[in-house]
Amino acid sequence: MKRVRTRFAPSPTGYMHVGNLRSAIFGYLVAKHYDGDFLLRIEDTDQTRQVEGAVEFIYNTCNLCGLVPDEGPMNSGNYGPYTQSERLPIYKKYAEQLVEMGQAYYCFCDEERLDEIRKIADSNKIAFLYDGHCKKLTKEEIDEKIANGEKYVIRQKMPKEGLSIYHDVVYGEMTFENKLLEDQILLKSDNFPTYNFANVVDDHLMEISHVIRGNEYLTSTPKYNHLYDAFGWEKPVYIHLPMVVDFDMKKLSKRHGASSFMDLYDSGYLPAAVVNYLSLLGWSPETTDEIFSLEELIKIFDPARINKSPAVYDVKKLNWVNAHYIKKLELDELLKITVPHLKEAYDLSDKTDEWVNHLVKIYHNHISYGKEIIEVTDLFFKKDISLDDECKEFMKDETAKEVVSTFAKHIKKINDWNMDNIVSAINNTKEELSVKGKMLYMPIRIMVSGQMHGPELPDTIYLLGKETVINRLNN
Ligand code: GLU
Repeated sequence: MKRVRTRFAPSPTGYMHVGNLRSAIFGYLVAKHYDGDFLLRIEDTDQTRQVEGAVEFIYNTCNLCGLVPDEGPMNSGNYGPYTQSERLPIYKKYAEQLVEMGQAYYCFCDEERLDEIRKIADSNKIAFLYDGHCKKLTKEEIDEKIANGEKYVIRQKMPKEGLSIYHDVVYGEMTFENKLLEDQILLKSDNFPTYNFANVVDDHLMEISHVIRGNEYLTSTPKYNHLYDAFGWEKPVYIHLPMVVDFDMKKLSKRHGASSFMDLYDSGYLPAAVVNYLSLLGWSPETTDEIFSLEELIKIFDPARINKSPAVYDVKKLNWVNAHYIKKLELDELLKITVPHLKEAYDLSDKTDEWVNHLVKIYHNHISYGKEIIEVTDLFFKKDISLDDECKEFMKDETAKEVVSTFAKHIKKINDWNMDNIVSAINNTKEELSVKGKMLYMPIRIMVSGQMHGPELPDTIYLLGKETVINRLNN
């Protein structure tokens, strides 16, 4: 078998959508499953979309996620340069070669003429396709125009009849009518290639064996195949990935919250968990297991199990996966993804490190992502708490009221505010009133925290502090 080489080919927009990251993950898994190479290629031919620092950003994202490229702009390799804007002479050479081979042609049509035929297509309600006007130019006419400094592009000569058929690992046999394939631009007038041309040239020269990308490229692939055929190059295996959609089945875009990897990361999601979750977007293992490390994914990943139906991005499920990874963290790692959020949301100036660490610790099994620490801990930072209807209903009970006043009495007697003494106060209340279980804990929990559920009660009371606890019990 030919060496497996895959590539992740993002445009440097300074933003990593989870859909893009999913493509990177699948590309990485296919390469590593077959002991192959994973390349990073920067597709910056659309210079208007450039963002400062975007390449470092892409590297950081890949590295954080463990998708370390074997070759790319920042590590060497034998197939560089790996940034398209540094490969312009290569594309020009190959475009001109196609012209010589009679598979492409110079086109001098200006915007005005293109607008005109676009309007005609619009008024006839048909899709605009370039009409091949310049295909008929003679060698002399072309030379003269170039000598006159007229601007030109190079277009691919597409067959106009028959069908183009190719196989995709996920979507099966794909058939397209050639008459719908446009004589697409390969090289623009500024000598930059289009994505449509550059990706084929690069995938060939970089010996990419499997092309893994979003399914929005399914319909352009016949055009790419005609390029491979024109050059006499071997085509790669195509693995087009199902679209990532929201619950309304709309394509997930920048507008959707939580759709950017960096936003997730900044909110205290763990890269390994995000990778785990995204690997399940459109792919499933043979078992019903859902928690996988990258190493495990490499072992079991089988592209034949990629599903073509749209993959619904479900933040609840992501949270569930992330919570699983959070539970496994050591305290210092947990602190790293939570304390910065606490500091930003609350004034911690009168709190000791010990207090903050203790607070985070009691919520270890209660949060799904780091930033959630803010909402779950707000009862420690607000002056007054209010009870919801369910809590109020519970507190109507006479025993519940008695528990609270008895507990308040014992709490007031504590001189040394520590966990042991708090536990004793609870036990003294228990013995004095002969209540236990829910009837003992719930009234106290409700009155001090305003909630019916939460972390361990003695810890909660300890961290709230004596004054706050007494104030709340007195209310
Ligand atoms: N630069 C393209 C994109 O960001 C890559 C598509 C591909 O993988 O071929 O969508």
